[in-house]
This record gives sequence, structure tokens and C-alpha cells, in this order.
Amino acid sequence: VGELTLVSFLEPIMRHPTRRTFFALAAAACVAATGCHATDKATQPKAAAVTTADIQKSLTPEQAIDRLMTGNERFVAGSSIRTNRPDEVRATAAAQYPYAVVLGCIDSRCPPEVVFDTALGDIFTPRIAGNFANQQIIGSMEFATKVAGAKAIVVVGHESCGAVKGAVDQVKLGNLTSVLEAIEPAAAAVKGTGERSSKNEAFVQQTAEENVRQTVAKIRSESEILRDLEKSGKLKIVGAMQDLDTGRVALLE
Ligand SMILES: [Zn+2]
Repeated sequence: VGELTLVSFLEPIMRHPTRRTFFALAAAACVAATGCHATDKATQPKAAAVTTADIQKSLTPEQAIDRLMTGNERFVAGSSIRTNRPDEVRATAAAQYPYAVVLGCIDSRCPPEVVFDTALGDIFTPRIAGNFANQQIIGSMEFATKVAGAKAIVVVGHESCGAVKGAVDQVKLGNLTSVLEAIEPAAAAVKGTGERSSKNEAFVQQTAEENVRQTVAKIRSESEILRDLEKSGKLKIVGAMQDLDTGRVALLE
């Protein structure tokens, strides 16, 4: 990656000079015209608990994963704290310092920001039916980690996944066929007895877990950048499953 390209990639995550200049000018104009203080909301955003550059830098990959899991505990307990979105908007408008990437399914019950009780600016969230990785998603992960500084990648599958059910039943439907084909190797790798269809809940669950494991392995095998980050201790890539009955996310061994 050339220096110019890297700079243009970094630009959206760095402080916005125009915005800062505008606020400074607005504050000066306000004081000059009315004598008002710089506590005006537009000039001095209220502090919100968002991830700062210092926090992102100081977190280890293990701590980044712990943050997510602690947020999931709050979600499960009904004690989510991420409710003041306007403050988060103001606190993250100039820059973002996300600490993790969560690859999840498009399932309407699995929005990572809600399930892990994260603030705006905390996590990158690529989502696709069946939470598998392709070249473009892996490329996005390389941006999120190598360029933007995230410390962990968590692949989250879930119970009763419609995409997994479609894959085990080898459903063919328009462009969805190619999505389901990406999950079929996981179904094929699950051994054991019993009916190999979506009617077999255990088989669906085992396939969903195997799909997460294969996705973690694929991310490592197809990205030299992510592999190197992990080897050097700057990144951790893990798999997890979300229980729909409780909302609880458990890391896979
Ligand atoms: Zn799903």
C-alpha cells in the first residue's frame, strides 16, 4: 500500500480539521457577539463513554474481547448502558477508534451493537447471511485492524440460523444459492448420525458451530496481514455462538 493510499484510507478516522476550525470560529463568534461561554453544546460536546485513541491503543486483544463479553452480559441482564446516542454521535463525529470487528449474520435478532451493548465507534460490523467470510469481507477486516487499529475479530454464529438451515437442505434460490453454497462445506464436515436436514436441530446447531470454526480458519489462511497481526500478538481471531433464547454469546473453544 502506497503512502498516499494509506493516508486517504486513514482520513475518515482522523480528526476533521474543517470541523474543528468551524467549532473554533463558532465559539469565538459566540463569545464576541453575546459573551456566552464555550460550554455551548455545539462547541464542547458532552463527554460520552466512547472509545478514544488512548483506550484503543492501550487495549490488548484479550481485553477487547472481554469488553464485548461484558457488554453481552449487560444485554442479557437487561442492563444495557448504551442509550445516549446523541452524545455518542457528538463524541465520535470527528474520529473513530473501534477496538473490535464482529462478523455476524444478517439475522434480525443478532445486531452486534445491541447484543454486545457497544457505543457508536466501538466496533466494525460486517454482516452477511450465515456469517461466513469472502475476499471482500476479509479485505474489510484488514482495513479495520491494520489500518484502523481494531484488536480483535469475533465471528458470531447463532442458533436456528436460516442460512445454515438453507445450506443443510441445499436450497436453490436466485443469488441466495451462492450464499448457501459458502456454508455447505461446514455441513459436509459435520459427522454423526441422524437426519441431515434442517428438521434435525442438533445437526443445524453443529453445522452453525462448524461454519464459525471454518470461517475463523479461512480468515487466517487467506489473509497474510491478519495472520501476521495475530502472530505478533496485536490481534486475536475467535469464534462464538449466540443463543437466541437468552441472548447470551459464548466463545467457542
Ligand atoms: Zn443467521
